[in-house]
Amino acid sequence: MGGADIERLIALLARLPGLGPRSARRAALALLRQPQTRMLPLAQAMEQAARTVRTCSTCGNLDTHDPCGICTDSARDRGLVCVVETVGDLWALERAGVHRGVYQVLGGTLSALSGTGPDDLNLAPLLARLEEGGVREVILALGATVEGAATAHWLQDRLAGFDVPVSRVGQGVPMGGGALDVLDDGTLAAALTARKIYS
Ligand SMILES: [Zn+2]
Repeated sequence: MGGADIERLIALLARLPGLGPRSARRAALALLRQPQTRMLPLAQAMEQAARTVRTCSTCGNLDTHDPCGICTDSARDRGLVCVVETVGDLWALERAGVHRGVYQVLGGTLSALSGTGPDDLNLAPLLARLEEGGVREVILALGATVEGAATAHWLQDRLAGFDVPVSRVGQGVPMGGGALDVLDDGTLAAALTARKIYS
């Protein structure tokens, strides 16, 4: 096959989630066939994003400014905070248009297997918001996994002292047994509507 530069491109593409060596070769070929219209615009977009995108210090979302567009949107309900595992889950909820409040991205779940403990979760900004006051409900929108459930239980205990209702989505709604971001919009909407207040 064709040269070290091409091999390097394929190797880098193959590391992306959802792409194995075979799809990486197909993607590389598609890019190489149209260098001006496909490859250079992609390379420029990636370089630009790498330079400008940062993590929102309020909610953990990714955006070109900090605080992010959701945190600074005056039309959003700041009293309604939805806790999600990843930015991908936040994007899924935004795509579905089912949450009009703000978010807290934990950046993971409690997991003995991967050694993720409470201190590894991005929770401090939420605790600060709760201490400030004005939060009327915390919605836990965590995946229907063992780790998601364990994290939700731990959060319910951790947030119990704030005198703010904590609810969980997806109770009684089939959640697909995994991450939020693979669900279709209708299922997401149903899961959010069917949330139950725990405390
Ligand atoms: Zn934000």
